[in-house]
Amino acid sequence: MIVAGAGIGGLSAALSLHAAGIEAIVIDSSATLRPLGVGINLMPHAVRELTELGLGGELEATGIPTAEMVHFDRHGNRIWGFASGRNIGYRWPQYSIHRGELQMILLGAVRERLGPGAVRTGTAFVSFAESPAGILVRVRDRASGTLSVLRGDVLVGADGLYSQVRAQLHPGEPPPHWGGVMMWRGMAEGAPFLTGRTVAVAGTNAALKFVAYPISRQAERRGRALLNWVAEVKLPGRASVRDADGNRADWNRQGRLGDVLPWFADWKFGWLDVPALITGAPRILEYPMVDRDPLPSWGSKPSSGPGRVTLLGDAAHPMYPIGANGGSQAVLDARVLAWSLACALSSSGSPAEGLAAYERARRETVNAIVLACRDMPADRLLQTVSTRAPGGFERIEDVLSTAELAAFDQAYRSTTLPDVAALNSRPSLTVTSR
Ligand SMILES: Cc1cc2nc3c(=O)[nH]c(=O)nc-3n(C[C@H](O)[C@H](O)[C@H](O)COP(=O)(O)OP(=O)(O)OC[C@H]3O[C@@H](n4cnc5c(N)ncnc54)[C@H](O)[C@@H]3O)c2cc1C
Repeated sequence: MIVAGAGIGGLSAALSLHAAGIEAIVIDSSATLRPLGVGINLMPHAVRELTELGLGGELEATGIPTAEMVHFDRHGNRIWGFASGRNIGYRWPQYSIHRGELQMILLGAVRERLGPGAVRTGTAFVSFAESPAGILVRVRDRASGTLSVLRGDVLVGADGLYSQVRAQLHPGEPPPHWGGVMMWRGMAEGAPFLTGRTVAVAGTNAALKFVAYPISRQAERRGRALLNWVAEVKLPGRASVRDADGNRADWNRQGRLGDVLPWFADWKFGWLDVPALITGAPRILEYPMVDRDPLPSWGSKPSSGPGRVTLLGDAAHPMYPIGANGGSQAVLDARVLAWSLACALSSSGSPAEGLAAYERARRETVNAIVLACRDMPADRLLQTVSTRAPGGFERIEDVLSTAELAAFDQAYRSTTLPDVAALNSRPSLTVTSR
């Protein structure tokens, strides 16, 4: 199997395929894989999958097992909190973790288990050609520009937001869709706040929102916190996602302190000094919150029957990074893909049938999450709070009724979290024998 893209999804796919007894190689266009990005949340359903891949110990040693997620208004007054991970009854924690460190954990495991040559960097996917006998993948060596061909049974496009595999499957798609929210992201070391393991969300996506959470177990062991922050600003007047130099939306785009700090200059809560946190970040990243419309199909459809090409992770379903679903859903895709392929190979021997089963299991479910992230019901209630109590409040019960608070709780659980009992009791996706 050929996996295009060595991000969270592609590397999880390689590990999952290997664990299911299926050979895989991964190509990535980056010259070297470096621990890029800032914080990301892995929800318990994804942590379960990575734990069953044998990575539970490394996650525990690296990330912070999130204790709770708490919403505040823009003045830092507490609206509502939700227990997280094991605290709410899951058998697996939720982890707040550095995206680059997570990628390096996955990369190390792939190289150790599949061999040092299993991940080919500096190798960009260019195009594919498919026949009933297999798949030919044209790749370009980034250093020399040389084109060559790889042969395999299946191609998995895990090549992210600007997936070239997706572009060949769905030519003419418009650029990513932008809802008008600009995100600035950074990290700074500071004193732990609240429980020391809290994800704090203040404000709303209708105007200004600030998210902060600790992501490093190493800093925690020293009595400190490596705080990841995300500052989101709705920019209704701005039409383009490109920056002043014309750069498109990119997770690694450089941001500027002067663009973000003024929006949050007076956000000083008793428990968190937002401007100090923003100013303390050695590097600021800027990312317009973009997604793509859900696809009607992920797989190729040659005239001979089901195809040998599919999509996974952001290549299949880029979504707004609210609700902590981007990385988690990519991990789930990877595990279901390997499971479906292994089942098909041991029954009919047809990898194409395995890909079709994977798409049936995942596409509609994840497409619904993409749409839910565009209009989170919980965010609507946060807007209600800011409209009713723009200057803040003493007691949330004076602002939201008991029924509205219950609706808030329910809205959060239904759009972001899997059912506790269902996840705890669902059979494993680990393939035991083939
Ligand atoms: C550099 C970077 C930083 C990020 N930082 C954050 C962050 O701080 N917070 C957050 O929530 N999310 C971040 N993300 C996004 C997050 O990783 C994804 O939303 C999620 O984990 C799903 O992962 P994925 O593997 O589908 O996509 P990605 O993690 O985006 O991985 C896609 C991979 O495909 C490779 N690729 C692209 N084109 C080609 C090609 N033609 N041929 C071969 N390989 C190709 C890329 O180099 C990349 O390694 C970041 C992504 C990247 C690439």
